[in-house]
Amino acid sequence: MKKGDIIELKIDRYAFEGKGIARIDKSLIVPGTKKDEGKPNNYVVFADGSYPGDTVKTMLLKIKNSYAESKVVEVLTPSPYRIPAKCRYFGLCGGCKQQNLDYEIQLKFKQQQVEEIFQKMGGFRDFEIEPIIPSEKVFYYRNKMEFSFSDKRWLKKEELADEKIIDKNFALGLHIPNIYDKVLDIEECFLQSKASNQIMNFTREFFKKKNTPIYSTKTHEGYLRNLVIKQSHHTDDLMVNLVTASEDDDLMVEYTADLLKEVPAVTTVINNINKKLASVATGDYEKVFHGTGYIYDSIGDYKFRVSANSFFQTNSLQAEKLYATALEFAQLSGDEVIYDLYSGAGTITIFMSGRAKQVFAFESIEAAIMDAAENANLNKIKNVNFIQADLYKSFLPIVKKDEIPKPDVMIIDPPRSGMHPITIQDTIELSPKKIVYVSCNPGTQVRDIKFLADAGYILKKIRPVDMFPHTYHIENVALLERQ
Ligand code: SAH
Repeated sequence: MKKGDIIELKIDRYAFEGKGIARIDKSLIVPGTKKDEGKPNNYVVFADGSYPGDTVKTMLLKIKNSYAESKVVEVLTPSPYRIPAKCRYFGLCGGCKQQNLDYEIQLKFKQQQVEEIFQKMGGFRDFEIEPIIPSEKVFYYRNKMEFSFSDKRWLKKEELADEKIIDKNFALGLHIPNIYDKVLDIEECFLQSKASNQIMNFTREFFKKKNTPIYSTKTHEGYLRNLVIKQSHHTDDLMVNLVTASEDDDLMVEYTADLLKEVPAVTTVINNINKKLASVATGDYEKVFHGTGYIYDSIGDYKFRVSANSFFQTNSLQAEKLYATALEFAQLSGDEVIYDLYSGAGTITIFMSGRAKQVFAFESIEAAIMDAAENANLNKIKNVNFIQADLYKSFLPIVKKDEIPKPDVMIIDPPRSGMHPITIQDTIELSPKKIVYVSCNPGTQVRDIKFLADAGYILKKIRPVDMFPHTYHIENVALLERQ
């Protein structure tokens, strides 16, 4: 067989990120291999776009000695786990990847994946695996959506025929996976709320009528870049943030007035001006056109102020469950000194503060540190300290210089790339009794935990939390104790 050939497979296992696995005889695929009578069906073929229980026709993309990669071209018999996707853009849009899979099964696959990562990749044996915490809401769970404008609208197959009648130079919606400059124009998304859809559709019509130019990633001319909507789960706060390449106050004033008439629930309107070439939805500076420029949300008993550009967990209800899991794992008595590494806007720090003697938070972004201090004030919390530190370098000099007491417990919640080896070394040297490692990437998490285990920490238990239904993202909490 060669690349481009199509084969028929019966999928029996789930690998990761929407890929099913079939095991077949290697001699069927790899040229020059003899049929292995002793070990039949020992060759793994990954099929992108398949689920266990499917029979598919799939095109070979890569043939290696130990496995092959392929992409499904036709589902012959669908898996019983498949359900009809709720959204009409499913399959094209980059937002949801497994909306056509029963939610219970999504959870089961996420749980299995974490178990395999820890047992097979990590080689860990005697630790407890607690069941994944499902998301309370399966739709409308996000508090933030970031839509993009594009002068290159992605045309669906049926639209290609209608190319003349469709405005292919104006789109507001979500990106197509792996295609950075094309945007799928969408009218309805089930991830945020109905108000969010109303705002998106109004915004599209408003600027289309005015012929406002869209920023081009090629020529770097044009005005409209992104529409970011932030909505509180616990208050009525609703923020509309228009990201543009330049200032046009008159246009913003008119947009704001019309938007408030159409969607009176909007509480604040902001314009972020992004003059950078990079396609990021954060401005170099911002102007407030209505309201305060903030929304307030809560996690547990604590309130948080969220500005347009500050990081806040996007599923507020699940964030509470994630933090409660971390707190339960830490088993605090109230006398502990805690370090919270990669603390962002101080949400975990503040959440734990009522159960600890003192919490010291370390984070590199200055704006996040300022938000964190503001949030501590808002909740009248005194036993927390926010320290700006780049955790790509050793932070022990800061600990020594400021005479910060040694930690009993460390909470570590790094970005997807995981911890820097220097930070792992610092952690080992600080030698806390317990480490609670919260991660959005179990792969890097297990890598880091192996280093900590080599230095004498014992992995006690893990518990995944589903923060993002219909996506492949997995959040996982792990508890380690010093031997
Ligand atoms: N614990 C927070 C934020 C977690 S996101 C919460 O639950 O909301 C990860 C955080 O790591 C971000 O705030 C990011 O700014 C921070 N970060 C990334 N690289 C860093 C570095 N080198 N040093 C310190 N903090 C870093």
